[in-house]
Amino acid sequence: MVAALEIRNLHVSVEDKPILRGVNLTIKQGEVHALMGPNGSGKSTLAHALMGHPAYHVTAGQVIFDGEDLLEMEADERSRAGLFLAFQYPVSIPGVTLANFLRQTINARMKAKDPESKGISIPQYTRLLKSKMDYLGMDHSFAGRYLNEGFSGGEKKRAEILQMATLEPKLAILDETDSGLDIDALRIVAEGVNRLSGPNLGALVITHYQRILNYIKPEFVHVMFEGQIVEHGGPELALHLEEQGYDWIREKYSAAE
Ligand code: ADP
Ligand code: MG
Repeated sequence: MVAALEIRNLHVSVEDKPILRGVNLTIKQGEVHALMGPNGSGKSTLAHALMGHPAYHVTAGQVIFDGEDLLEMEADERSRAGLFLAFQYPVSIPGVTLANFLRQTINARMKAKDPESKGISIPQYTRLLKSKMDYLGMDHSFAGRYLNEGFSGGEKKRAEILQMATLEPKLAILDETDSGLDIDALRIVAEGVNRLSGPNLGALVITHYQRILNYIKPEFVHVMFEGQIVEHGGPELALHLEEQGYDWIREKYSAAE
């Protein structure tokens, strides 16, 4: 059965300030979606709420993933259920290489399934990691880097894509970098998603960048504005945004005050 993420009338507050005001969105395994919208519209808030970040309070609505209530799950349960959310790993762990970190993630998952599991063997892991890196066109030396230490925005994204490749999620949600301006990072995410997407992977790529079609070809495009998804469409919607920017969205949907 195809897994789906169903977000229904989701309301999220941060520090008692309502940010998301009724988000509806369904993403199925095998589909590539783009979530676009001007800075500050609530895109990252959606990603944070879905990963269960404690600062983001769900005040109403439902999220169903693969038939289960996502909001009832701990962050690691969400990941084991097959949902990949970026930035699930700490910002920087001194002395831990990316390769070690990814192996620990795989082992933690195997142990959660079977407490007796000894985890993945080193030769097996080395083969897995190398094959994923080759598939993604990554230099093997990258896995020897210390986790996030001095990683550029683009390298953080590359690490994230490699983590996604090794975890083989059913559905991945990838937010742009905090700067929101790092086109290199979007390019890396897009190439990774293009490479990994297929019938077994669904993806939601979040960006404010209007020329997204130069990098990724989403079947579905959604535009968030002031905490709601105000437009749903296909690639033509992204093309329209590339030509017109977000001004028409502001004019059409700004609350008249
Ligand atoms: P986007 O990702 O679309 O640029 P965000 O979700 O980051 O938008 O932000 C939406 C709104 O929520 C902004 O007004 C922002 O200031 C506010 N916000 C988001 N996260 C926090 C936070 N941790 N603390 C306070 N305000 C926040
Ligand atoms: Mg953001």
